[in-house]
Amino acid sequence: MEFEAVIGLEVHAQLLTDTKIFCGCSTKFGNPANSNVCPVCLGHPGVLPVLNKKVVEFTTLMGLATNCTINEKSVFARKNYFYPDLPKGYQISQFELPICENGYIDIKTNDEKRIRIKRIHMEEDAGKSIHDQGYDTLVDVNRCGTPLIEIVSEPDISSGEEAYQYLSNLKQIITYLGICDGNMEEGSLRCDANISIRPKGATELGTRTEVKNMNSFRNVQKAIDFEIDRQINLVEDGGEVIQQTLLWNAEQNKATSMRGKEEAHDYRYFPDPDLMPVIVDEAWQKEIFITMPELPVKRKERFIKDLNLPEYDAEVLTSQREMADFYEEVLTETNDSKIASNWVMGDVLKIINEQKISFSNFPVSPKNLGKLINLINQNKISSKIAKDVFPFMLEEDRDPEIIVKEKNLIQITDTSAIESAIDNVINQNPDQVEEFKSGKDKVIGFFVGQVMKETKGKANPQMVNQILREKLK
Ligand code: ADP
Ligand code: MG
Ligand code: ZN
Repeated sequence: MEFEAVIGLEVHAQLLTDTKIFCGCSTKFGNPANSNVCPVCLGHPGVLPVLNKKVVEFTTLMGLATNCTINEKSVFARKNYFYPDLPKGYQISQFELPICENGYIDIKTNDEKRIRIKRIHMEEDAGKSIHDQGYDTLVDVNRCGTPLIEIVSEPDISSGEEAYQYLSNLKQIITYLGICDGNMEEGSLRCDANISIRPKGATELGTRTEVKNMNSFRNVQKAIDFEIDRQINLVEDGGEVIQQTLLWNAEQNKATSMRGKEEAHDYRYFPDPDLMPVIVDEAWQKEIFITMPELPVKRKERFIKDLNLPEYDAEVLTSQREMADFYEEVLTETNDSKIASNWVMGDVLKIINEQKISFSNFPVSPKNLGKLINLINQNKISSKIAKDVFPFMLEEDRDPEIIVKEKNLIQITDTSAIESAIDNVINQNPDQVEEFKSGKDKVIGFFVGQVMKETKGKANPQMVNQILREKLK
């Protein structure tokens, strides 16, 4: 029998607000343990939560960006469970009436596919239990009350690779919106995967397991593929999948059981009596909508249509908002969109990746990079010389024209200077001249190389080519 996998993802994203969701405490990461706290986020009796407006705006923005319906009225609910890093004994979340529902994200693997989003809701984060500092357990509640959105997909994903694509697109959207930094290694983006299998073509869902604890998109992909394999082997051997929660172990490349169905929580949800329903009326929705930046799919289309870029370039450049922004800054200086694209996708991106820096910290300003490209297009330097100028710009972000002058790299376009270099090369290589005469047109490349060497790469290549051919003939 052939099986197919059915996967639904629950993604938590930490929102980039300055303060927490229900109090004025800072959300700053890395402060001393238990210093970003107040009676509200410590869950003292009698305190009252006050909703952070920004959280509603960010979540609505995300809902609009993922084609969701924004519910005019949504409700906060208490999700009750006991844990040392949850001082109140409950987490404020949304249950029956979430703020966003019924959206989708399109992904592309071999085919295009639409992954439906069931809901996006707002909630608060819990604190952190720390188990590895010589004590049994330490508790840091700085993170208590940090705003999260939870994005729940329908079970429309069929493989680890599709999950990887879905997460990549999701991250692209949240970082374009600027509502989350999208860093999975640091936990500002977290993903739980629900996985089941069923006979190919069946419509009923199989029993699912939930895999947690993956700290990169690749690990999510691996964990899913591992779990699909495990379930198929189990069923083929006559076994049965039981509902349980598994933890992914990245070192051992396998998932191990954390808790079974019997130990599953009963959260006893009920509407939080301390918080009013959230009302996002049409007017507010519109206000939020107009703050929406251009999203990656649109931007890519514009790059192809208006800037005449190949699809590949447009795809790479818009994969990160910062890269697309950098690129468009370059274009405020030069109008050669393709050469600019080559530089950004090539030399710039290479350094960004090697040095693990962001585009905003790139040592060469986009304006000066644009100027460098103009020097090439104005025939003041060859593209080869530009590659020599670039390292000087990396050392100090200066106008490339000044560097070119300082280093005496300006292109030779003086006919007599080029002619004399060509004469030297011709005189020194009589054998190759004979070869050319006997019809071996290819040796022209050799001569061009020699002339460039003679002029330290500064001769204008088109002129060299043209004069060489004339002289050889
Ligand atoms: P819970 O309340 O237990 O979190 P939900 O119904 O909200 O359950 O589903 C959580 C996630 O699990 C969703 O992404 C959903 O698509 C997915 N899911 C539900 N049932 C299955 C299943 N049988 N196989 C795979 N994924 C599933
Ligand atoms: Mg769940
Ligand atoms: Zn607080």
